[in-house]
Amino acid sequence: MDKAQAVESAAPAETAAPAKPSGMPKLAEDDPQAKSLSYVHDATNVDSAKQPRYKAGQICANCALYQGKAGDEWGGCSIFPGKAVNANGWCSVYAPKPT
Ligand code: SF4
Repeated sequence: MDKAQAVESAAPAETAAPAKPSGMPKLAEDDPQAKSLSYVHDATNVDSAKQPRYKAGQICANCALYQGKAGDEWGGCSIFPGKAVNANGWCSVYAPKPT
């Protein structure tokens, strides 16, 4: 029920609405800030030898800093304002979402 309501409210009823997170440009892996934090679009590409903090299963979608909704492929991140990160991505400031 909530899901259906969310889908309805997400419909672009107002064309002049401010950019929503889903409309943000995607963060590029070669963006200087992304590189400095070792961001990747696919967490399975993280080199755990170089990123000892990385644990399998950590992805942006379960990071405390991720702002996308469940099921979104891309979402905002408070570390990269104005850019969308991949739900399956990862960076070196990953923090587990409180459960
Ligand atoms: Fe992904 Fe979290 Fe890093 Fe943002 S802070 S890019 S949500 S792992």
